[in-house]
Amino acid sequence: MSCGTKKGLLIVVSGPAGSGKGTVLSRLLAEDNYRYSVSATTRAPRPGEVDGVNYHFLTEAEFRRRIAADEMLEHAEYCGNFYGTPKKEAYAVLDSGCNLLLEIEVAGAAQIKKKYPEAVLIMLLPPSFAVQESRLRGRGTETEEKIKQRLARTREELTYIGDYDYVVYNYDNGIDEAVADIRAIVRAEAHALSRNPEACRSYFET
Ligand code: 5GP
Repeated sequence: MSCGTKKGLLIVVSGPAGSGKGTVLSRLLAEDNYRYSVSATTRAPRPGEVDGVNYHFLTEAEFRRRIAADEMLEHAEYCGNFYGTPKKEAYAVLDSGCNLLLEIEVAGAAQIKKKYPEAVLIMLLPPSFAVQESRLRGRGTETEEKIKQRLARTREELTYIGDYDYVVYNYDNGIDEAVADIRAIVRAEAHALSRNPEACRSYFET
């Protein structure tokens, strides 16, 4: 696995339920120079989920051991379960020059920004709270109580928006646009002078 000689970009994408982040991220991952790192979690696998593919499914004791051993780049508790990004896996992707996409919730994203300030944090949102609500109801897969919980959780999540660098909207039928917006952000970030401190010297020396 190798994407280039420069270190890859760490890109965090968060978004509330109904933002379409799963679809947007799978489109980006189909691109050659994006990689995903498999998170660890203590939640039980859902039907069809495979250990090591969707998540590393761990016991709580093992998860706590890994935190204590400083093996997690970040971790957070979400709905009663632990989730975290294994450090080794994440750094291996970045060192290979590939861009690493993390789909994580807001508390973990805030930790990433502290530990790894060059990370780019993107919040993916439906066009409005009202649209989010109608998307969740439209799915018809969840109880009224669950929908209310998710909407309440969104208000909480958005208190973290100040930690993010960009906001991208996923309009109705807007997947293509949201994907293009994230590509544009990543492309611009790769050209930031702060990420190319040797630009002038190498210009004269190569
Ligand atoms: P789910 O249980 O539905 O797969 O994920 C629940 C939430 O956990 C989602 O918001 C997802 O973005 C978040 N999540 C998944 N992996 C990680 C991780 O490694 N770290 C953190 N902080 N959150 C994660």
